[in-house]
Amino acid sequence: MERKKRVLVKFSGEALAGESGFGIDNAILKFIAKQIKELVENGVEVGIVIGGGNIIRGVSAAKDGIIKRTSGDHMGMLATVINSIAMREALEKAGLIVRVQSAIKMEAICETFIVGRAQRHLEKGRVVIFAAGTGNPFFTTDTAATLRAIEIDADMIIKATKVDGVYDKDPKKFEDAKLLRELTYELAMNDNIKVMDDTAIALAKDNKLPILVCNMFKDGNLLSIINGDDSAFCSVVKN
Ligand code: UDP
Repeated sequence: MERKKRVLVKFSGEALAGESGFGIDNAILKFIAKQIKELVENGVEVGIVIGGGNIIRGVSAAKDGIIKRTSGDHMGMLATVINSIAMREALEKAGLIVRVQSAIKMEAICETFIVGRAQRHLEKGRVVIFAAGTGNPFFTTDTAATLRAIEIDADMIIKATKVDGVYDKDPKKFEDAKLLRELTYELAMNDNIKVMDDTAIALAKDNKLPILVCNMFKDGNLLSIINGDDSAFCSVVKN
């Protein structure tokens, strides 16, 4: 029997915050839950990673030297756990079965990340949210998402953003900015484009993991992307 499609969707923490840029907007959680439910109902196995930027980032926490960078990063990773719990609630409310697995042990709150266990959950149609990044400071949740995508043998990583995909230059500054439907990993690392940080892109490239950058606020877009519809709003990074 052919294996079902398996994807890892990465949301930034800021995506959850809505207009205010801070905290968690329940209306956005509900919208995301609807999009994820559509995937699961269509037989897609879904892993999720959420950032923590709506609460705290290590670099900003440590900027005046009072908080050490490693401690700031611990705080950032804990922020991703807060977001993951919120997302679990919204997904469960939508009728899905969900497990949160943290890279840092927190047994009273969620499971600890164990790849084989995550895979069993996915095979059973449960959504798995991978929390606490990689568990190590000095990494980003984009890198954590790429790592988890490779570990669970996902077919692709979808970076859910506020824009339709990757542009050749900043569309806010240049009217003639062009949406690139397809680009290479090398181009994705280019300073003007920067789809994700270099560590994440290098990891994806080494493991031939396609990166899809898409607009998460278009209803039904995630499913269109996975179905390969021409109408899908996204860019694909691959070799
Ligand atoms: N972080 C970390 N290790 C990881 C992933 C994340 O230390 O493997 C920390 C880091 O401080 C980061 C914060 O968690 O700034 C939140 O993650 P990120 O900035 O990637 O969130 P996003 O920008 O996606 O909201």
